[in-house]
Amino acid sequence: MSQAIPKTISVLGATGSVGLSTLDLVRRNRGKFKAVALTANSNVQALAKLAMEFDAELAVIGNPDKFLELKEALSGTAIRVAAGEGGLIEAAQADAEIVMATIVGAAGLRPTLAAIKRGATIALANKECLVCAGELMIEEAQRSNATILPVDSEHNAIFQVFDFNADRSVEKIILTASGGPFWDKRADCLKNVTPEQAVKHPNWNMGRKISVDSATMMNKGLEVIEAYHLFPVTHEQIDVLVHPQSVIHSMVQYIDGSVLAQLGSPDMRTPIAYAMSWPGRLEAPVERLSLADIGQLTFAKPDFETFPCLQQAMDALRNGGSAPIVLNAANEVAVEAFLAERIGFMDISSVVNSALTKLDMKAPQSLSMVFEMDEQARALSQAIVKDMSA
Ligand code: NAD
Ligand code: MG
Repeated sequence: MSQAIPKTISVLGATGSVGLSTLDLVRRNRGKFKAVALTANSNVQALAKLAMEFDAELAVIGNPDKFLELKEALSGTAIRVAAGEGGLIEAAQADAEIVMATIVGAAGLRPTLAAIKRGATIALANKECLVCAGELMIEEAQRSNATILPVDSEHNAIFQVFDFNADRSVEKIILTASGGPFWDKRADCLKNVTPEQAVKHPNWNMGRKISVDSATMMNKGLEVIEAYHLFPVTHEQIDVLVHPQSVIHSMVQYIDGSVLAQLGSPDMRTPIAYAMSWPGRLEAPVERLSLADIGQLTFAKPDFETFPCLQQAMDALRNGGSAPIVLNAANEVAVEAFLAERIGFMDISSVVNSALTKLDMKAPQSLSMVFEMDEQARALSQAIVKDMSA
């Protein structure tokens, strides 16, 4: 694909935490980037404001009931509007060199695939897509010559230090985990955790779903599966290391004993800038790392007993078939129920466990099977939540 200046970029999930950080970099580099399509799920006013500020060509609202509201908010401008899943796909297909895929959850899968199919460069933040359909996405990217650049900070770190020309020299990948707000707590202290406590991450400012995932450590489990799909390693070559300061974003260990790491302040604008400008670099207005001020970096083994979600995800990867799809769908349903105060914090892993034991785990052969299994697992998980909260 030709590299025009400014580079064109669409942001799927523009109103979210990663979406806004992406647009902050676009705002600071107006000569280098130009927004094409922006999407959001339901916040019409925020989307309309961004679409006007960035002079986007297309604004799409995921919730179809909000179409008229968006149309009205953008009347008198030249910005086209659309809504629903068809609209999100249209946004992914719009002619932009880079698509920032940062819709949360499996809802991002169809739009992300649409961008992959046209051979775009995908800056991928939405890890749930890879968890559900990693093999099919990577195959599709190979067919269409699309480039997938990891935005998740750990995977972006690995991408920066992984020697793709000598992948046999890689012994293992070490994914670091902050451990979330409860990393030093035991299970019996976590029963009565509230949503507000769970979403208060000590280092990162993120959307609510991923913040709960960090607190249960399901986020790290999803990231193990994400790493498996993004890099040429087996599941046995992926380790998790708790590192509460979130300074070392991840590491690669080589056969000669060398360990290469990427470090930085915990600010998503660093990995986002790298994905936006790869193979070059872009100035990012993040706080510079001062190791002297931090003084000490600490590390610990993960506590699988207190954080069963991490083990569940690692087992789902090892068991394969549809286990990762079921794991992800059950987790999405359970996190939503926890945020709505329908179930407790420790119930999240119970919902995931029940769904995993009740569903048939045959491997999906096609994308339609992925969507079918995702729907089945959601329906079952809703029923489990209903029983639990009755
Ligand atoms: P967020 O909740 O702040 O934003 C999500 C965005 O997606 C919003 O624009 C929202 O309108 C849109 N959206 C939500 N549901 C949708 C639906 N059903 N259909 C269409 N659009 C929908 O989330 P976030 O923290 O920005 O995370 C986004 C993704 O990036 C997640 O997959 C997360 O795991 C991943 N990620 C986030 C961070 C972070 O620092 N926030 C870091 C690494 C990875
Ligand atoms: Mg991460």
